[in-house]
Amino acid sequence: RAKAEGRGTWRFYEAAMDARAQARRSLQSDLRLALDRREFSLMFQPIIDLATSRVAVVETLLRWTHHGRGPVPPDKFIPLAEETGLIVPIGEWVLRHACEEALHWPAGIRVAVNLSPVQFRDASLLRVVDAALRDSGLPPERLELEITESVFLEADDTVLATLHALRSRGVSFALDDFGTGYSSLSYLRSFPFDKVKIDKSFVHASTGDSGSLAIVRAIIGMANSLGMTVIAEGVETQEQLGLVHAQGCMQVQGYFFSRPLPANGIRDYIDSPSPAALTAFATHAADV
Ligand code: C2E
Ligand code: MG
Ligand code: MG
Ligand code: MG
Repeated sequence: RAKAEGRGTWRFYEAAMDARAQARRSLQSDLRLALDRREFSLMFQPIIDLATSRVAVVETLLRWTHHGRGPVPPDKFIPLAEETGLIVPIGEWVLRHACEEALHWPAGIRVAVNLSPVQFRDASLLRVVDAALRDSGLPPERLELEITESVFLEADDTVLATLHALRSRGVSFALDDFGTGYSSLSYLRSFPFDKVKIDKSFVHASTGDSGSLAIVRAIIGMANSLGMTVIAEGVETQEQLGLVHAQGCMQVQGYFFSRPLPANGIRDYIDSPSPAALTAFATHAADV
């Protein structure tokens, strides 16, 4: 009897696995059509410079609104796009539209674009970035590429050569999600990043636990001494802002300032004299 029950459980498990694999496959084939169906859009989130109280950079964040399911979160569809290689054409679309959108902003503001490691393994990356810059007319100095450490996991000479070639054009690089993953400091030596982005999990934990605070402090100290700018990601509260600022972090991004906005929303945000959240912070900081 126990045996029969076991078999039943197994069948149930198998059926559930099949359903899940089936759902993945259908999402994958829809992803293949999403570009043609114009289901992608871009959102833009400001990164504030605390020295000037103004927007320094705007990060481009991809959105997929599936015709039947509605919004599919990036954490779900980006991995699928990576597995299928679709991230290459999708990433090119993002890059082109981000460069075009940035031309509507004051020339001092840069646009940040996330790049997947898969895009680096594709021989066309350099050509794709060059074409996006040339066709839009955006100066390379206004483009910032965000990459994660995983780019270096399979880094061969070609990947490094591509990074250096882009950098020599004036494009800058930020190491995204720093503190998660492998966080080998040797990556910082093998490639000269302009910026490090502290992952939001540390920013969130830093107000409650001293270990995370110590990590945040160490990252900021190290990055500053290597001449890199530090961006704190996921700043949601005044307390988190005060804390990362006190540690010497000069650029901040998060819901405390603004959620990711559509194109017209970010234009308005840039035009407003200074983020309301920051005014409140400055007043408070002057009090203490
Ligand atoms: P990321 O590059 O680390 O982007 C930051 C993520 O944090 C975004 O999530 C953003 O909406 C979210 N965020 C910003 N401020 C806050 C905050 O105060 N609190 C919290 N809880 N979250 C905040 P999103 O848009 O869901 O994107 C998730 C990830 O998907 C990105 O992480 C990036 O790795 C990837 N991604 C998004 N767009 C693209 C793209 O065009 N290409 C590639 N390759 N990856 C992308
Ligand atoms: Mg990013
Ligand atoms: Mg990040
Ligand atoms: Mg992330």
